[in-house]
Amino acid sequence: MELSDRLIISKPLYFTEPNEKCGYCGGKKSEKYDYFASDSWWNLHEADAESLQFNNCTMGLQVELMPMDVYDELCNLGFRRSGNFLYKADLLRNCCRLYTIRTTPEKCEMTKELKTCVSRFRKRVESSQMNGSTAQRKQKSKSQQTKFDYIQEIIQAELGSSNFRTRFEPAMFTMEKYQLFVRYQETVHNDFKNSIKAFKRFLCESPFPEDVVMGTQEEWDQLNNWHNMKSDETLKRVGPAHECYYYEDKLIAIAVLDFLPSGISSVYFIWDPDYPRWSLGKLSALRELSVLSKINRQYYYLGYYVDDCPKMKYKRKYGGDILDVCNNEYVPLNLVAPLVEHGKLFVLDHESQHQDDDEDEDDEDEGIEEADDSSIAKDALFELPMDSVPRLKMTGPTVNIVDRIYGENGGAVMSANEAVEKLVDLGIEYTPTIINDLYRPKSLHTFSASSEPELRYEADDGDVPGYTNEIYHLPNVVPGLLPLWQILQIIESGDITRLNNKLMLYNVRSGQIRFVTDFQAESKRTKRVICNVIRMIGLKSTAKSLIII
Ligand SMILES: [Zn+2]
Repeated sequence: MELSDRLIISKPLYFTEPNEKCGYCGGKKSEKYDYFASDSWWNLHEADAESLQFNNCTMGLQVELMPMDVYDELCNLGFRRSGNFLYKADLLRNCCRLYTIRTTPEKCEMTKELKTCVSRFRKRVESSQMNGSTAQRKQKSKSQQTKFDYIQEIIQAELGSSNFRTRFEPAMFTMEKYQLFVRYQETVHNDFKNSIKAFKRFLCESPFPEDVVMGTQEEWDQLNNWHNMKSDETLKRVGPAHECYYYEDKLIAIAVLDFLPSGISSVYFIWDPDYPRWSLGKLSALRELSVLSKINRQYYYLGYYVDDCPKMKYKRKYGGDILDVCNNEYVPLNLVAPLVEHGKLFVLDHESQHQDDDEDEDDEDEGIEEADDSSIAKDALFELPMDSVPRLKMTGPTVNIVDRIYGENGGAVMSANEAVEKLVDLGIEYTPTIINDLYRPKSLHTFSASSEPELRYEADDGDVPGYTNEIYHLPNVVPGLLPLWQILQIIESGDITRLNNKLMLYNVRSGQIRFVTDFQAESKRTKRVICNVIRMIGLKSTAKSLIII
């Protein structure tokens, strides 16, 4: 494997900041209840909720290089990228629940609002010379009044326009783009702290290989001709892109997109505040769905859905599914809408879904979940394994088992502690969680990643530089990471040897770059770093990585 095909990453990072800095709630939720991930934590803290510090808790990796197919997989594990930083929220401790949301062109149902947006767009951009075709269309639409095909409407509007066009191009900086960005940030987001450097870092830079970033002329030509792609034609472009919207030769919007093997991911959208009546944000989503339908890719990723954040709630307009990070499956937002209200976390119970089954087909993980341990509350459940085995049925009943796993008396912490004990025996440095509480009073708030206030780290022996810094420590229990019992299983079963002679480490302090030839022979700290990478991105992607330690 060439170095250039690898995922080159930092040690996993976990950081906490006061929720005033949260981009979604800003620490301004009207109900304290809405900060809590689940009811059992609210029940525990209802009386002292006013005095608690709620935080923005993010974990991630600084990425130096990332193949597009790996990014595609990681997006479907709940990650997003901001420039070169790959991150996701700790859905248990974070002040807001950030659900990965994706949809398809078919799932996007035309409401009156969306229809109006498309019709107005068509009126605005169709030239007067096109009256002939407009008349033709009117006649046609009379005979087919029930069906409003937004994709065809958009394609026809653009093909028939002489004043509106868009252009896909590499995600490169231009002053024209930056100036539009500044006007957008200042007018729409009241953000006056913009700089060229920040713009580049946020919307131009990406961790993808240079040839992927630049693409070929052939790729861009094909993409810019998306309206006319044949149904059997496959889009060649994979990688980041800027789609620039021009009206009468003026740049009026920029869509920052990633073309993934499985679809299109919307990174950001900037529009000219002089054109508020165009509803450019809505239009861009419908346009991107239209592009998707022509290029033969499957999903439109809209980033994160945050139910109690008005700025993000619009995403449900386009239909779609949100990611249950514990089952590692997408579920229709409509199905789980009541479970995600008030900023709540959901984990669907696949057991209850299968209750009525006639077949006695056992789930593979049953033995693990129903482990007989009297010290665990009667109905507590271990964390679900992270794998690609589908467990859920997409019809009801929807039972939320979040508290049985992650609640005050859930089984996750207990099972993690049992795993920690065995991991320590195997020479891997983990520390048990002593107090299972996610919250602390404001006055005691310090910069701390962990919900495990008793964690003690040994002095840094230089083996893994900076190891004692809390920023490198993930809590033992985080929804959507591989549970520690599963890490233990990977090690005990010998699956861990799949990393041998594949995973690479680069020690910045010694300047040494090398393969992991025998996981067991690594120091306890290196093993922990490797295990944390596996918790975040899985064993398969870890084997393709180079970790900078
Ligand atoms: Zn928040």
